[in-house]
Amino acid sequence: MKSELQIKTKLLPWVDSRYKFNPTCIVLHWWGEPCQHAKCANASAIGIEIEGNDERDLDHNEKQFQSVVALVHYLKETFHIADTFTMEQIGSTQLFYGITSHKQVDKLCQNGSGKIDVHDQYVERVLTHVKRLANKG
Ligand SMILES: [Zn+2]
Repeated sequence: MKSELQIKTKLLPWVDSRYKFNPTCIVLHWWGEPCQHAKCANASAIGIEIEGNDERDLDHNEKQFQSVVALVHYLKETFHIADTFTMEQIGSTQLFYGITSHKQVDKLCQNGSGKIDVHDQYVERVLTHVKRLANKG
């Protein structure tokens, strides 16, 4: 078993516990786009990379879909994240809220690069299922 130090230095070099933030947004990604979280949303969003390269991959994996719904529901409840996607501009800082896709965030980024992940129907389906879980209590 690896020690905590080994994990931090070898496996997760980007983790630095000095830098914490209160996430207000969840951004869904797929692997078909160059794999990095939406830069302009890093200050306010958690990114979830979903294995798959396109709509077909994501729409034909029900077990994965249910896992994404469970994770989004957990993060939403834990961090009190809203359902509706909005953006607030404060000076040069952009703050994002809600549950959305890289595609939608990218449209609002000052340095957007035309990301297409993930498709709108997938985000809507996730939201519908997350709301059902929330209503069950
Ligand atoms: Zn992406």
